[in-house]
Amino acid sequence: QQTTYKDDNIFAKMLDGDIPYHKVYEDDKTLAFMDIMPQAAGHVLVIPKQKAVDLAELEPEYASAVLMTAKKVMQAQRQVFEREGIIQMQLNGAEAGQTVFHYHVHLIPSSIHELGRH
Ligand code: 5GP
Repeated sequence: QQTTYKDDNIFAKMLDGDIPYHKVYEDDKTLAFMDIMPQAAGHVLVIPKQKAVDLAELEPEYASAVLMTAKKVMQAQRQVFEREGIIQMQLNGAEAGQTVFHYHVHLIPSSIHELGRH
């Protein structure tokens, strides 16, 4: 069952300026901010300024912009946390574990073994 985009999802409210968040980076097509329940220190989320539920709905220009922002965030995380391992994770659909239905990429300074312990 496909989820349709809802304007009242939590990330849409952030983009509208209706709820607070800790901003990491912003440009015309993307926003990056700290995850409120980090799976490791420095857990960042990157979202497009496009109303897309998941990867299937993401337009090419936003897909490219999200990835470019993810690169910037990852490079900053490597410097700040002095570690090489940065996990890029992105869930599509409730079955996969997606809980916020506005496309987002996780960037988590961690190893896959550490994450598995959560
Ligand atoms: P998903 O499971 O959909 O891939 O991940 C959603 C992520 O959004 C989770 O890691 C969760 O901690 C994060 N999140 C949920 N609500 C908020 C919020 O209000 N603020 C922030 N900064 N992150 C949130």
